[in-house]
Amino acid sequence: MSKPFILQTILAAAVCKTVRRALRLRGSGGTALPGKAAMTVCKDILAVTSRGMEIIVVTGTNGKTTTCRMLEHALTSSGRECLSNKSGANLLSGVTAEITCNTDWLGRPKTHYAVIECDEGALKQVVPLIRPKVIVVTNLFRDQLDRYGEVMHTLDAIRTGIAKVPESILCLNADCSLTASLADDVPNKVVFYGMNTPVGDQKDVEISDAKYCIRCGREYRYHYHTYAHLGSFYCPNCGYKRQDPSVAVNRILGITTEGSKIEMQLDGKIHPVRVGLPAVYNLYNAAAAICAYRVFGLPEEEILGSIADVRSSFGRMENFTLGDVRIQMILVKNPAGCNQALEYVSGIGSDYNVVLCLNDRTADGHDISWIWDADFEKITQDPHARSILVSGDRAEDMQLRLKYAGAEESRITLEKDNARLLQIMKESTLPVFILPNYTSMLALRKVLSEATGGEAFWKG
Ligand SMILES: [Zn+2]
Repeated sequence: MSKPFILQTILAAAVCKTVRRALRLRGSGGTALPGKAAMTVCKDILAVTSRGMEIIVVTGTNGKTTTCRMLEHALTSSGRECLSNKSGANLLSGVTAEITCNTDWLGRPKTHYAVIECDEGALKQVVPLIRPKVIVVTNLFRDQLDRYGEVMHTLDAIRTGIAKVPESILCLNADCSLTASLADDVPNKVVFYGMNTPVGDQKDVEISDAKYCIRCGREYRYHYHTYAHLGSFYCPNCGYKRQDPSVAVNRILGITTEGSKIEMQLDGKIHPVRVGLPAVYNLYNAAAAICAYRVFGLPEEEILGSIADVRSSFGRMENFTLGDVRIQMILVKNPAGCNQALEYVSGIGSDYNVVLCLNDRTADGHDISWIWDADFEKITQDPHARSILVSGDRAEDMQLRLKYAGAEESRITLEKDNARLLQIMKESTLPVFILPNYTSMLALRKVLSEATGGEAFWKG
Protein backbone atom coordinates (compact mmCIF):
# COMPACT_ATOMS: atom_id res chain seq x y z
CA MET A 1 0.00 0.00 0.00
CA SER A 2 1.49 3.33 -1.03
CA LYS A 3 1.37 6.26 1.33
CA PRO A 4 -1.01 8.94 0.05
CA PHE A 5 -0.08 12.59 -0.05
CA ILE A 6 -1.78 14.79 2.50
CA LEU A 7 -3.65 16.68 -0.23
CA GLN A 8 -4.98 13.41 -1.58
CA THR A 9 -6.25 12.52 1.92
CA ILE A 10 -7.92 15.88 2.37
CA LEU A 11 -9.57 15.60 -1.02
CA ALA A 12 -10.77 12.00 -0.47
CA ALA A 13 -12.26 12.86 2.93
CA ALA A 14 -13.98 15.93 1.47
CA VAL A 15 -15.39 13.91 -1.44
CA CYS A 16 -16.68 11.25 0.95
CA LYS A 17 -18.51 13.79 3.13
CA THR A 18 -19.87 15.76 0.19
CA VAL A 19 -21.29 12.69 -1.55
CA ARG A 20 -22.90 11.51 1.67
CA ARG A 21 -24.42 14.91 2.35
CA ALA A 22 -25.79 15.08 -1.19
CA LEU A 23 -27.30 11.61 -0.95
CA ARG A 24 -28.95 12.41 2.37
CA LEU A 25 -30.43 15.60 1.01
CA ARG A 26 -32.08 13.41 -1.58
CA GLY A 27 -33.42 11.19 1.20
CA SER A 28 -31.12 8.26 0.60
CA GLY A 29 -29.10 6.53 3.32
CA GLY A 30 -25.99 6.78 1.17
CA THR A 31 -24.05 4.02 2.88
CA ALA A 32 -21.62 2.74 0.24
CA LEU A 33 -21.34 5.32 -2.52
CA PRO A 34 -19.43 7.95 -0.46
CA GLY A 35 -16.82 5.28 0.30
CA LYS A 36 -16.52 4.31 -3.34
CA ALA A 37 -16.10 7.94 -4.34
CA ALA A 38 -13.39 8.46 -1.70
CA MET A 39 -11.58 5.32 -2.88
CA THR A 40 -11.40 6.61 -6.43
CA VAL A 41 -9.49 9.64 -5.13
CA CYS A 42 -7.29 7.58 -2.82
CA LYS A 43 -7.50 3.78 -2.97
CA ASP A 44 -6.41 3.03 0.60
CA ILE A 45 -7.96 6.07 2.22
CA LEU A 46 -9.36 3.84 4.97
CA ALA A 47 -5.84 3.09 6.22
CA VAL A 48 -5.26 6.81 6.70
CA THR A 49 -8.62 7.82 8.15
CA SER A 50 -8.59 4.97 10.70
CA ARG A 51 -4.99 5.56 11.81
CA GLY A 52 -4.56 5.59 15.58
CA MET A 53 -8.06 4.27 16.31
CA GLU A 54 -8.66 1.28 18.56
CA ILE A 55 -11.07 -0.96 16.68
CA ILE A 56 -13.09 -4.10 17.31
CA VAL A 57 -14.26 -5.94 14.19
CA VAL A 58 -17.16 -8.40 14.35
CA THR A 59 -17.69 -10.94 11.58
CA GLY A 60 -19.48 -14.30 11.17
CA THR A 61 -22.81 -15.50 9.75
CA ASN A 62 -25.31 -14.60 12.48
CA GLY A 63 -25.24 -12.12 15.34
CA LYS A 64 -22.82 -9.53 13.93
CA THR A 65 -25.14 -6.57 14.30
CA THR A 66 -26.37 -7.39 17.79
CA THR A 67 -22.86 -8.12 19.08
CA CYS A 68 -21.75 -4.74 17.70
CA ARG A 69 -24.68 -2.98 19.39
CA MET A 70 -23.76 -4.58 22.73
CA LEU A 71 -20.13 -3.47 22.41
CA GLU A 72 -21.03 0.00 21.25
CA HIS A 73 -23.53 0.45 24.07
CA ALA A 74 -20.95 -0.62 26.67
CA LEU A 75 -18.40 1.82 25.27
CA THR A 76 -20.74 4.81 25.02
CA SER A 77 -22.54 4.23 28.31
CA SER A 78 -19.17 4.28 30.06
CA GLY A 79 -18.45 7.67 28.53
CA ARG A 80 -16.29 6.70 25.56
CA GLU A 81 -17.00 8.09 22.15
CA CYS A 82 -17.32 5.33 19.65
CA LEU A 83 -17.98 5.06 15.95
CA SER A 84 -19.83 2.16 14.37
CA ASN A 85 -21.33 1.25 11.01
CA LYS A 86 -24.89 1.11 12.34
CA SER A 87 -26.45 1.21 8.90
CA GLY A 88 -25.28 -2.34 8.26
CA ALA A 89 -23.06 -1.32 5.32
CA ASN A 90 -20.37 -3.86 6.08
CA LEU A 91 -18.37 -4.17 2.86
CA LEU A 92 -15.16 -2.23 2.15
CA SER A 93 -17.02 0.72 0.60
CA GLY A 94 -19.45 1.01 3.53
CA VAL A 95 -16.73 0.78 6.20
CA THR A 96 -14.63 3.30 4.24
CA ALA A 97 -17.59 5.70 4.10
CA GLU A 98 -18.37 5.38 7.80
CA ILE A 99 -14.81 5.91 9.01
CA THR A 100 -13.80 8.52 6.44
CA CYS A 101 -16.89 10.66 7.09
CA ASN A 102 -15.94 10.67 10.76
CA THR A 103 -12.74 12.68 10.28
CA ASP A 104 -11.70 16.31 10.58
CA TRP A 105 -10.82 18.22 7.41
CA LEU A 106 -7.29 16.77 7.45
CA GLY A 107 -8.68 13.24 7.46
CA ARG A 108 -7.85 12.52 11.10
CA PRO A 109 -10.36 10.41 13.07
CA LYS A 110 -12.66 12.29 15.45
CA THR A 111 -13.28 9.32 17.74
CA HIS A 112 -10.75 6.98 19.29
CA TYR A 113 -12.87 3.84 19.36
CA ALA A 114 -14.77 2.01 16.65
CA VAL A 115 -16.89 -1.12 16.54
CA ILE A 116 -17.10 -2.34 12.97
CA GLU A 117 -19.38 -5.02 11.59
CA CYS A 118 -17.65 -6.67 8.64
CA ASP A 119 -18.97 -9.04 6.03
CA GLU A 120 -17.11 -12.37 6.06
CA GLY A 121 -16.09 -12.04 2.41
CA ALA A 122 -14.88 -8.44 2.85
CA LEU A 123 -12.76 -9.14 5.93
CA LYS A 124 -9.58 -9.67 3.92
CA GLN A 125 -9.96 -6.24 2.29
CA VAL A 126 -11.04 -4.34 5.40
CA VAL A 127 -8.81 -5.57 8.24
CA PRO A 128 -5.39 -4.94 6.61
CA LEU A 129 -6.43 -1.29 6.31
CA ILE A 130 -7.94 -0.72 9.76
CA ARG A 131 -5.71 -3.17 11.72
CA PRO A 132 -8.24 -3.97 14.46
CA LYS A 133 -7.09 -4.72 18.00
CA VAL A 134 -9.75 -7.44 18.32
CA ILE A 135 -11.60 -9.57 15.77
CA VAL A 136 -14.72 -11.46 16.89
CA VAL A 137 -16.00 -14.39 14.82
CA THR A 138 -19.56 -15.21 15.91
CA ASN A 139 -20.34 -18.46 14.07
CA LEU A 140 -20.53 -19.98 10.61
CA PHE A 141 -23.74 -21.17 9.06
CA ARG A 142 -24.89 -21.73 5.55
CA ASP A 143 -25.93 -18.32 4.27
CA GLN A 144 -26.66 -16.80 0.89
CA LEU A 145 -25.31 -19.79 -0.98
CA ASP A 146 -25.13 -18.17 -4.35
CA ARG A 147 -22.99 -15.34 -3.04
CA TYR A 148 -20.18 -17.18 -1.32
CA GLY A 149 -20.63 -20.81 -2.18
CA GLU A 150 -20.17 -23.30 0.57
CA VAL A 151 -19.54 -22.53 4.18
CA MET A 152 -15.95 -23.78 3.87
CA HIS A 153 -15.29 -21.11 1.30
CA THR A 154 -16.47 -18.49 3.81
CA LEU A 155 -14.24 -20.00 6.46
CA ASP A 156 -11.26 -19.73 4.09
CA ALA A 157 -12.12 -16.12 3.34
CA ILE A 158 -12.15 -15.30 7.07
CA ARG A 159 -8.86 -17.14 7.60
CA THR A 160 -7.22 -15.19 4.77
CA GLY A 161 -8.36 -11.94 6.39
CA ILE A 162 -7.09 -12.91 9.83
CA ALA A 163 -3.71 -13.98 8.46
CA LYS A 164 -3.17 -10.42 7.25
CA VAL A 165 -3.34 -9.00 10.79
CA PRO A 166 -1.37 -11.38 13.05
CA GLU A 167 -1.33 -8.79 15.84
CA SER A 168 -5.16 -8.79 16.18
CA ILE A 169 -6.53 -10.86 19.06
CA LEU A 170 -9.27 -13.29 18.03
CA CYS A 171 -12.44 -13.97 20.02
CA LEU A 172 -13.81 -17.23 18.67
CA ASN A 173 -16.99 -19.16 19.39
CA ALA A 174 -15.72 -22.36 21.03
CA ASP A 175 -19.02 -24.15 20.36
CA CYS A 176 -18.88 -23.76 16.58
CA SER A 177 -16.50 -26.39 15.23
CA LEU A 178 -15.93 -24.35 12.07
CA THR A 179 -15.22 -21.04 13.79
CA ALA A 180 -13.04 -22.64 16.47
CA SER A 181 -10.88 -24.29 13.80
CA LEU A 182 -9.59 -20.84 12.81
CA ALA A 183 -7.34 -21.02 15.88
CA ASP A 184 -5.33 -23.84 14.29
CA ASP A 185 -3.47 -22.17 11.53
CA VAL A 186 -3.10 -18.51 12.40
CA PRO A 187 -0.40 -16.97 14.59
CA ASN A 188 -2.90 -14.66 16.37
CA LYS A 189 -3.64 -14.86 20.07
CA VAL A 190 -7.01 -16.58 20.55
CA VAL A 191 -9.59 -16.28 23.33
CA PHE A 192 -12.65 -18.55 23.27
CA TYR A 193 -16.21 -17.90 24.42
CA GLY A 194 -19.19 -20.26 24.48
CA MET A 195 -21.97 -21.91 26.45
CA ASN A 196 -21.19 -24.43 29.19
CA THR A 197 -24.77 -25.57 29.36
CA PRO A 198 -27.08 -27.57 27.07
CA VAL A 199 -30.12 -25.85 25.57
CA GLY A 200 -33.34 -27.62 24.59
CA ASP A 201 -34.32 -31.24 25.06
CA GLN A 202 -31.21 -32.65 23.28
CA LYS A 203 -33.36 -35.08 21.29
CA ASP A 204 -33.33 -35.34 17.50
CA VAL A 205 -30.90 -32.47 16.98
CA GLU A 206 -30.46 -32.14 13.26
CA ILE A 207 -27.10 -30.89 12.13
CA SER A 208 -26.78 -29.78 8.55
CA ASP A 209 -23.90 -27.31 8.38
CA ALA A 210 -20.92 -28.99 10.05
CA LYS A 211 -21.68 -32.58 10.75
CA TYR A 212 -18.26 -34.02 10.06
CA CYS A 213 -14.87 -33.37 11.62
CA ILE A 214 -13.04 -30.58 9.84
CA ARG A 215 -9.74 -32.40 10.37
CA CYS A 216 -10.50 -36.03 9.58
CA GLY A 217 -14.06 -36.24 8.24
CA ARG A 218 -15.50 -38.50 10.98
CA GLU A 219 -18.95 -37.56 12.32
CA TYR A 220 -18.77 -35.41 15.45
CA ARG A 221 -20.24 -36.51 18.74
CA TYR A 222 -21.59 -34.10 21.32
CA HIS A 223 -21.58 -33.94 25.10
CA TYR A 224 -24.48 -31.50 24.66
CA HIS A 225 -26.10 -29.29 22.02
CA THR A 226 -27.10 -25.63 22.16
CA TYR A 227 -28.46 -24.96 18.68
CA ALA A 228 -27.84 -26.15 15.13
CA HIS A 229 -24.25 -27.50 14.99
CA LEU A 230 -23.24 -25.52 18.07
CA GLY A 231 -22.42 -27.32 21.31
CA SER A 232 -19.75 -29.36 23.04
CA PHE A 233 -18.50 -31.29 20.02
CA TYR A 234 -15.68 -33.80 19.84
CA CYS A 235 -14.26 -36.10 17.20
CA PRO A 236 -13.99 -39.74 18.33
CA ASN A 237 -11.31 -40.37 15.72
CA CYS A 238 -8.70 -37.59 15.75
CA GLY A 239 -9.45 -35.90 19.05
CA TYR A 240 -10.40 -32.47 17.68
CA LYS A 241 -12.76 -31.03 20.27
CA ARG A 242 -14.32 -27.94 21.77
CA GLN A 243 -11.86 -25.85 23.76
CA ASP A 244 -12.77 -24.67 27.25
CA PRO A 245 -13.93 -21.07 26.83
CA SER A 246 -12.62 -18.36 29.17
CA VAL A 247 -15.92 -16.47 28.83
CA ALA A 248 -18.98 -18.69 29.05
CA VAL A 249 -22.69 -18.74 29.76
CA ASN A 250 -22.64 -21.13 32.68
CA ARG A 251 -26.31 -21.40 33.50
CA ILE A 252 -29.56 -20.04 32.07
CA LEU A 253 -31.82 -18.96 34.91
CA GLY A 254 -34.71 -17.77 32.72
CA ILE A 255 -35.63 -16.58 29.23
CA THR A 256 -38.71 -14.41 28.51
CA THR A 257 -39.76 -12.17 25.60
CA GLU A 258 -38.09 -9.30 27.47
CA GLY A 259 -34.70 -10.91 27.97
CA SER A 260 -32.71 -13.53 29.88
CA LYS A 261 -31.12 -14.01 33.24
CA ILE A 262 -27.91 -15.98 33.16
CA GLU A 263 -24.77 -16.80 35.03
CA MET A 264 -21.69 -15.75 33.13
CA GLN A 265 -18.35 -17.36 33.93
CA LEU A 266 -15.26 -15.23 33.39
CA ASP A 267 -12.00 -17.10 33.95
CA GLY A 268 -13.72 -19.35 36.49
CA LYS A 269 -15.53 -16.57 38.33
CA ILE A 270 -19.34 -16.48 38.22
CA HIS A 271 -21.26 -13.24 37.58
CA PRO A 272 -25.06 -12.88 37.44
CA VAL A 273 -25.97 -11.08 34.19
CA ARG A 274 -29.22 -9.83 32.70
CA VAL A 275 -29.33 -9.77 28.91
CA GLY A 276 -31.91 -7.32 27.58
CA LEU A 277 -32.69 -9.36 24.47
CA PRO A 278 -34.59 -12.64 24.33
CA ALA A 279 -33.68 -15.96 22.66
CA VAL A 280 -30.69 -18.25 23.02
CA TYR A 281 -28.66 -16.85 20.16
CA ASN A 282 -28.48 -13.51 21.94
CA LEU A 283 -26.72 -15.27 24.82
CA TYR A 284 -23.99 -16.18 22.35
CA ASN A 285 -23.92 -12.55 21.20
CA ALA A 286 -23.63 -11.44 24.84
CA ALA A 287 -20.77 -13.87 25.51
CA ALA A 288 -19.01 -12.70 22.32
CA ALA A 289 -19.38 -9.03 23.28
CA ILE A 290 -18.22 -9.57 26.86
CA CYS A 291 -15.23 -11.57 25.63
CA ALA A 292 -14.24 -8.89 23.13
CA TYR A 293 -14.66 -6.05 25.61
CA ARG A 294 -12.30 -7.71 28.11
CA VAL A 295 -9.73 -8.58 25.47
CA PHE A 296 -9.95 -5.00 24.25
CA GLY A 297 -8.60 -4.07 27.67
CA LEU A 298 -11.64 -2.36 29.17
CA PRO A 299 -13.21 -3.11 32.60
CA GLU A 300 -15.59 -6.07 32.33
CA GLU A 301 -18.00 -4.55 34.88
CA GLU A 302 -18.94 -1.93 32.29
CA ILE A 303 -20.28 -4.40 29.77
CA LEU A 304 -21.67 -6.84 32.34
CA GLY A 305 -23.88 -4.00 33.60
CA SER A 306 -24.78 -2.39 30.29
CA ILE A 307 -25.81 -5.52 28.43
CA ALA A 308 -29.15 -5.51 30.28
CA ASP A 309 -30.32 -2.41 28.46
CA VAL A 310 -29.27 -3.19 24.92
CA ARG A 311 -32.48 -3.21 22.98
CA SER A 312 -33.07 -4.59 19.57
CA SER A 313 -31.79 -2.84 16.52
CA PHE A 314 -32.78 -2.60 12.94
CA GLY A 315 -34.98 -5.60 12.40
CA ARG A 316 -33.38 -7.83 14.98
CA MET A 317 -36.10 -8.30 17.60
CA GLU A 318 -37.16 -4.74 17.00
CA ASN A 319 -40.46 -3.66 18.57
CA PHE A 320 -43.09 -1.41 17.05
CA THR A 321 -46.46 -0.31 18.36
CA LEU A 322 -48.95 0.15 15.53
CA GLY A 323 -52.15 1.58 17.00
CA ASP A 324 -52.78 -0.89 19.81
CA VAL A 325 -50.91 -3.75 18.17
CA ARG A 326 -47.54 -4.85 19.45
CA ILE A 327 -45.26 -5.92 16.62
CA GLN A 328 -41.91 -7.61 16.93
CA MET A 329 -39.68 -7.96 13.88
CA ILE A 330 -37.06 -10.70 13.71
CA LEU A 331 -34.72 -10.78 10.73
CA VAL A 332 -34.24 -14.30 9.35
CA LYS A 333 -31.83 -15.10 6.54
CA ASN A 334 -30.75 -18.71 6.86
CA PRO A 335 -32.08 -21.99 8.30
CA ALA A 336 -30.18 -21.79 11.61
CA GLY A 337 -31.28 -18.24 12.38
CA CYS A 338 -34.78 -18.91 11.13
CA ASN A 339 -35.15 -21.98 13.35
CA GLN A 340 -34.10 -19.96 16.36
CA ALA A 341 -36.71 -17.31 15.52
CA LEU A 342 -39.42 -19.96 15.00
CA GLU A 343 -38.45 -21.63 18.26
CA TYR A 344 -38.71 -18.31 20.06
CA VAL A 345 -42.09 -17.35 18.56
CA SER A 346 -43.65 -20.78 19.09
CA GLY A 347 -42.39 -20.78 22.66
CA ILE A 348 -44.31 -17.61 23.60
CA GLY A 349 -47.22 -19.66 24.92
CA SER A 350 -50.05 -17.24 24.05
CA ASP A 351 -51.93 -16.41 20.84
CA TYR A 352 -50.27 -14.39 18.07
CA ASN A 353 -50.36 -13.73 14.34
CA VAL A 354 -47.28 -14.17 12.23
CA VAL A 355 -46.06 -12.55 9.00
CA LEU A 356 -43.43 -14.32 6.87
CA CYS A 357 -41.78 -12.21 4.16
CA LEU A 358 -39.49 -13.65 1.54
CA ASN A 359 -37.63 -11.72 -1.15
CA ASP A 360 -34.95 -13.08 -3.48
CA ARG A 361 -33.03 -9.94 -4.41
CA THR A 362 -29.24 -9.72 -4.62
CA ALA A 363 -28.72 -8.87 -0.95
CA ASP A 364 -30.92 -11.80 0.07
CA GLY A 365 -29.28 -14.36 -2.17
CA HIS A 366 -31.31 -15.52 -5.16
CA ASP A 367 -31.51 -19.09 -3.91
CA ILE A 368 -34.41 -19.36 -1.49
CA SER A 369 -34.31 -23.15 -1.22
CA TRP A 370 -33.12 -22.78 2.39
CA ILE A 371 -36.73 -22.32 3.47
CA TRP A 372 -37.12 -26.08 2.96
CA ASP A 373 -34.43 -26.65 5.62
CA ALA A 374 -36.12 -24.45 8.23
CA ASP A 375 -38.70 -25.91 10.64
CA PHE A 376 -41.82 -23.92 9.78
CA GLU A 377 -43.68 -26.86 11.32
CA LYS A 378 -42.89 -25.17 14.63
CA ILE A 379 -45.49 -22.52 13.88
CA THR A 380 -47.88 -24.40 11.62
CA GLN A 381 -48.28 -26.92 14.42
CA ASP A 382 -48.45 -24.32 17.16
CA PRO A 383 -52.13 -23.77 18.12
CA HIS A 384 -51.21 -20.27 19.33
CA ALA A 385 -50.24 -19.20 15.81
CA ARG A 386 -53.67 -18.01 14.72
CA SER A 387 -53.21 -16.54 11.28
CA ILE A 388 -50.19 -16.66 9.03
CA LEU A 389 -49.55 -13.95 6.46
CA VAL A 390 -47.09 -14.47 3.64
CA SER A 391 -45.55 -11.62 1.71
CA GLY A 392 -42.56 -10.61 -0.43
CA ASP A 393 -41.48 -11.37 -4.02
CA ARG A 394 -41.50 -15.09 -3.29
CA ALA A 395 -44.64 -15.21 -1.14
CA GLU A 396 -45.99 -18.12 -3.19
CA ASP A 397 -42.91 -20.22 -2.39
CA MET A 398 -43.40 -19.49 1.28
CA GLN A 399 -47.07 -20.39 1.00
CA LEU A 400 -46.15 -23.71 -0.58
CA ARG A 401 -43.58 -24.38 2.14
CA LEU A 402 -46.25 -23.76 4.80
CA LYS A 403 -48.70 -26.11 3.09
CA TYR A 404 -46.05 -28.82 3.20
CA ALA A 405 -45.51 -27.94 6.85
CA GLY A 406 -49.16 -28.83 7.41
CA ALA A 407 -50.86 -25.43 7.53
CA GLU A 408 -54.52 -25.41 6.47
CA GLU A 409 -55.17 -23.10 3.54
CA SER A 410 -57.67 -21.03 5.54
CA ARG A 411 -54.96 -20.02 7.99
CA ILE A 412 -52.68 -18.53 5.32
CA THR A 413 -53.21 -15.11 3.72
CA LEU A 414 -51.06 -13.96 0.82
CA GLU A 415 -50.55 -10.19 0.61
CA LYS A 416 -47.72 -8.70 -1.44
CA ASP A 417 -48.69 -5.06 -1.05
CA ASN A 418 -46.98 -3.54 1.99
CA ALA A 419 -49.64 -0.85 2.52
CA ARG A 420 -52.39 -3.48 2.64
CA LEU A 421 -50.19 -5.69 4.81
CA LEU A 422 -49.82 -2.81 7.23
CA GLN A 423 -53.60 -2.37 7.32
CA ILE A 424 -54.12 -6.08 8.10
CA MET A 425 -51.60 -5.86 10.93
CA LYS A 426 -53.26 -2.73 12.27
CA GLU A 427 -56.54 -4.61 12.55
CA SER A 428 -54.97 -7.51 14.42
CA THR A 429 -56.30 -8.15 17.89
CA LEU A 430 -53.22 -10.21 18.74
CA PRO A 431 -49.50 -9.42 18.91
CA VAL A 432 -47.81 -9.82 15.54
CA PHE A 433 -44.42 -11.35 14.83
CA ILE A 434 -42.82 -10.48 11.50
CA LEU A 435 -40.08 -12.76 10.18
CA PRO A 436 -38.65 -11.11 7.07
CA ASN A 437 -35.43 -11.76 5.19
CA TYR A 438 -33.07 -8.87 4.49
CA THR A 439 -34.55 -6.72 1.72
CA SER A 440 -38.12 -7.45 2.78
CA MET A 441 -37.12 -6.33 6.28
CA LEU A 442 -35.82 -3.02 4.88
CA ALA A 443 -39.05 -2.41 2.98
CA LEU A 444 -41.36 -3.37 5.82
CA ARG A 445 -39.33 -1.49 8.36
CA LYS A 446 -39.71 1.64 6.26
CA VAL A 447 -43.52 1.46 6.11
CA LEU A 448 -43.71 0.52 9.79
CA SER A 449 -41.40 3.35 10.83
CA GLU A 450 -43.46 5.81 8.82
CA ALA A 451 -46.70 4.53 10.29
CA THR A 452 -45.37 4.61 13.84
CA GLY A 453 -43.37 7.84 13.55
CA GLY A 454 -39.98 6.16 13.80
CA GLU A 455 -36.88 7.63 12.25
CA ALA A 456 -34.92 6.52 9.24
CA PHE A 457 -32.09 4.28 10.35
CA TRP A 458 -29.23 6.47 9.22
CA LYS A 459 -30.39 9.20 11.56
CA GLY A 460 -30.29 6.81 14.52
ZN1 LIG B 1 -11.52 -35.80 13.53
